[in-house]
Amino acid sequence: AKKQRVDKVLSNLGYGSRAELKKFCKQGLVFVNGKAVSNPGLQVDTDIDEIVFNGEKINYREFIYLMMNKPDGYISATFDKHDPIVLDLIDDEYLVFEPFPVGRLDKDTEGLLVLTNDGQLAHRVLSPKKHVPKTYYAKIDGKVTEEDIEAFKQGVVLDDGYETMPSELVILKSDDISEIELTIHEGKFHQVKRMFESVGKTVVYLKRLSMGALKLDETLELGEYRELTDEEVKLIE
Ligand code: URA
Repeated sequence: AKKQRVDKVLSNLGYGSRAELKKFCKQGLVFVNGKAVSNPGLQVDTDIDEIVFNGEKINYREFIYLMMNKPDGYISATFDKHDPIVLDLIDDEYLVFEPFPVGRLDKDTEGLLVLTNDGQLAHRVLSPKKHVPKTYYAKIDGKVTEEDIEAFKQGVVLDDGYETMPSELVILKSDDISEIELTIHEGKFHQVKRMFESVGKTVVYLKRLSMGALKLDETLELGEYRELTDEEVKLIE
């Protein structure tokens, strides 16, 4: 990587303001390659140099990737006037990276939400050309039938006239309240809910299970999140 000031590197990682870092250097809290740093403007290469702050080796990275089990009641955006947002659930340790959600889940939708500060990855995943599959679990008011499977396979016409791409519907339980899994290859506004509306049924519960080949870690409680491994990041697209 290119050289940067050590105070800038630490400040970007949330260790304090540039003024505070100047103080921390004076106090002997900052080490680079085993040597105490007195000059906060010291140039470092984060790929090569080992930076230690207050006795702890820093984990430098430019990008972070989080998976959250999104709970009901939170907006997947970085700002909202009225409602809580998913970023309210994220610790400062990660917020310093300024993550944002990759795509949106409705306020009442639960399940897999990826957050990152990697704009290029987000752009690629959300590109309409790419058709990254997304699988949802849903409870439906009404009996879901073989005809619905066929209709979704052919494509259905939404309330605004848009004809959906072929999607795969699996019936887990066909009853007064049915349970299904649906895989779609695009992401129109309220798509799953509107697809069921087009066949006269209502989604009463919706949860995203996967995005690309990345599956929700079911050990995450609602509102919990964790960093993705490098392997998991590759599974998204
Ligand atoms: N489809 C919907 O209707 N809502 C979501 O949150 C995601 C997909």
